[in-house]
Amino acid sequence: MLEKVLIANRGEIALRIQRACYELGIKTVAVHSTADANLKHVLMADETVCIGGGPSNESYLNMPAIISAAEVTDATAIHPGYGFLSENADFAERVAESGFTFIGPSPQLIRTMGDKVSAIKAMQEAGVPTVPGSDGSLPEDAGTCRDIARRIGYPVIIKAAGGGGGRGMRVVHSEGSLINSINLTKSEAGAAFGNETVYMEKFLERPRHIEFQVLGDNHGNAVHLFERDCSMQRRHQKVVEEAPAPGLSHERRMEMGERCAEACRRLGYSNAGTFEFLYQDDEFYFIEMNTRLQVEHPVTELITGIDIVKQQLRIASNEPLSFTQDDVQLRGHAMECRINAEHPRTFVPSPGRVNTWHPPGGPGVRVDSHLYTGYSVPPFYDSMVGKLITWGETREAAIARMSGALAELVVDGIETNTLLHREIFQHAAFKQGGTDIHYLEKRLGL
Ligand code: ADP
Repeated sequence: MLEKVLIANRGEIALRIQRACYELGIKTVAVHSTADANLKHVLMADETVCIGGGPSNESYLNMPAIISAAEVTDATAIHPGYGFLSENADFAERVAESGFTFIGPSPQLIRTMGDKVSAIKAMQEAGVPTVPGSDGSLPEDAGTCRDIARRIGYPVIIKAAGGGGGRGMRVVHSEGSLINSINLTKSEAGAAFGNETVYMEKFLERPRHIEFQVLGDNHGNAVHLFERDCSMQRRHQKVVEEAPAPGLSHERRMEMGERCAEACRRLGYSNAGTFEFLYQDDEFYFIEMNTRLQVEHPVTELITGIDIVKQQLRIASNEPLSFTQDDVQLRGHAMECRINAEHPRTFVPSPGRVNTWHPPGGPGVRVDSHLYTGYSVPPFYDSMVGKLITWGETREAAIARMSGALAELVVDGIETNTLLHREIFQHAAFKQGGTDIHYLEKRLGL
């Protein structure tokens, strides 16, 4: 087993990783910025190293500072969490070259999946269904681009190969604006991602977002842990997630999950990963693969009883998976609300001091958060300050528990989106399940 893990992240996920290490008897090193000395996991770590200033590029994105911290503390491995450097192939490479274990897949696979054009190609070769599209980057020739769009059928979406975070995309409804849109997306992509490559896909008008969790080891084994439905989004940011996806037949679930697991075996994918799909009319269309732990991993943990972070640590220690697909059983239903420090109507971030923190509790309620009374949320980072997760034997039971948990939650001093969640959990359409990715924005009148 790994001896000492440096956690190259902050907030709730750093605490989550630290808890898993603690249970496995692994020592932890917390690295933090000057703005983060009072983070809960920093106060609890075996060792701490301040790696730079508040802004992320001075600290959590500062590769030499993080690697030096691992050297001076004799850490044996680095867990990148999500965001920051978690999907940076150069970082994974430098970690390995410096003699540490990177807790994630190989740099080569991170690189392949980080470029959407190469990721789609890899998926097609591995038998995973993709969105009808240009089959690779768009050529320079305008006539050929028009032919491709006609073959796919309007509306189409132009996407940057290097895009991320919902940026670098443009929907085109008719041929008149096609070439102009391609050129605009190219120049934006060049400026934002340093890569002008764009490709074209059929634009699906009312899809749901359904993703499959996988685990692969270094010995050629891979399993899937079923799916999550993350259709409740605002500006491509997930707001509520759940598992399993409402209305998906168990047969379809197992068929798609197996295709993802098989893709992992073929690619030699090791550690935790997520295949993201758009889902419409009972068809799945691959959009991207995340080569890291996801924010919403707890809902999967609650329906399978498998601790994904502990599995990541075991896999990185070269252990083979200790269970097979048949051992993975789906039980009940889980919901997750992302609690953000922001105004529930305007969504303006609301950093500051937490005067009262009173989390909910009781059976089937899990709170993953680094907040405590007296803690100050710094202004530099993502506004998510915690996650409320509930489990129930049925979806209705998980929803009832979440409604109760949201009613119990008190966070004073900063604004949070708790009120928005309370409303969502009253919506009839949400309660029924299976709403598409545009539902929340329409409902908010955005
Ligand atoms: P990013 O890496 O920026 O998150 P994705 O490829 O995952 O980009 O797409 C982000 C979101 O954009 C999707 O969740 C979906 O809402 C929308 N989207 C992307 N591709 C399509 C498509 N072909 N049809 C409809 N919506 C799409």
